[in-house]
Amino acid sequence: MTKTPEDAEARRAVAPVICYPNDTLPAPDLALYAQARQGARRIGETLVPPRDARCFEVPAGHFFRITSVEGPQVGDLNLWNASELSECFYSGKTRALHGTHLTTGERMWSSFPYLRPMATIVSDTLGWYGIDSFGGSVHDVIGTRCDPYTGNLLAGTRYHHCCHSNLTRALADHLGVSPEKAEPYVHDVLNVFMCTGFTRDTGQYFMKASPVRPGDYLEFFAEFDLLGGLSACPGGDCSSEHSSDVAACHPLLVEVYAPAEGVLEAWSPPESNGYDRSHGWGQGS
Ligand SMILES: [Zn+2]
Repeated sequence: MTKTPEDAEARRAVAPVICYPNDTLPAPDLALYAQARQGARRIGETLVPPRDARCFEVPAGHFFRITSVEGPQVGDLNLWNASELSECFYSGKTRALHGTHLTTGERMWSSFPYLRPMATIVSDTLGWYGIDSFGGSVHDVIGTRCDPYTGNLLAGTRYHHCCHSNLTRALADHLGVSPEKAEPYVHDVLNVFMCTGFTRDTGQYFMKASPVRPGDYLEFFAEFDLLGGLSACPGGDCSSEHSSDVAACHPLLVEVYAPAEGVLEAWSPPESNGYDRSHGWGQGS
C-alpha cells in the first residue's frame, strides 16, 4: 500500500517538458525530395502475401511506397543497411525523437552507433487521421511486432505466421541462411497503417480497426542503400485479434521508384553519428 502525500495534487499538476525537443534535428529537404519524386520511374514491385513477408531492396535516393490493396491490412516494417545488417531501424529512439506515431516529414532512425536517418516519410494518405478521441493514431513506433514467444507466454500457443516469424523467414530466404541465423536481425517495427495508442485508465497498448482503405499508401525516401522487410500482419486490419488465422488478411504492395535524373546530384546520404564512441573510458569516474 502506498500512502498518498498531502501535496499529491500539486505534484501531479507539475507541467511536463518534452524529453527531446526536436527543433535541432537535421531537417529533411522535402522540397528537393518532391522534385526528385516528380518524374520518378517505377523500377520494381513486390507483392507481400497475407500472413507472410517479403524483403526488398531500395538504393539510396530512391523511393519506396507501401500500398493497401484489396482490403484493410496492417504491415510490419523492418529496415536494414543493405551492406551492414547490424545497422537497423531503432523504433524506441525514433519514438523518443518524433513521438508515438509517424507521418510526412518524419524519419526512421538507425541503431547505435550510427543513429542517422534511414528513411524519410514523404507521403501519407492517412495524414488526415490525426489523433482520435481514444488517443489512437496510425503508423506507430510503440508496438514491437506480433511474435510466437509472447503467444506462447500468454496462451501456450504455437502460431508460425506472426510478423516476427514472417520477417525471419523472409530475411532467411533473402540472405540464403537458416532462420536461426536470420532471426537476431529482426527488430521492432514501424507498424504501417496500424491504429494504436495507450488506454488512459490503465496505460495499456491498444489497437483498433485500421482506417486504411485500398489505395491508401505510405511513401518513403531511402537515405542510404536499404534492405526492407515487410510482413502483412496476421491481424489483418487489427480490429480484433492477431497471432492467429482468425482475421481477414490482405496483401500489401511495395513499389520502388528511381528519382528523376540529375535532381539529386548534389545530395549525399547522411553521415553516421559523430560521437567518438570513447564513452569516457580511461578518464576515471
Ligand atoms: Zn503482426
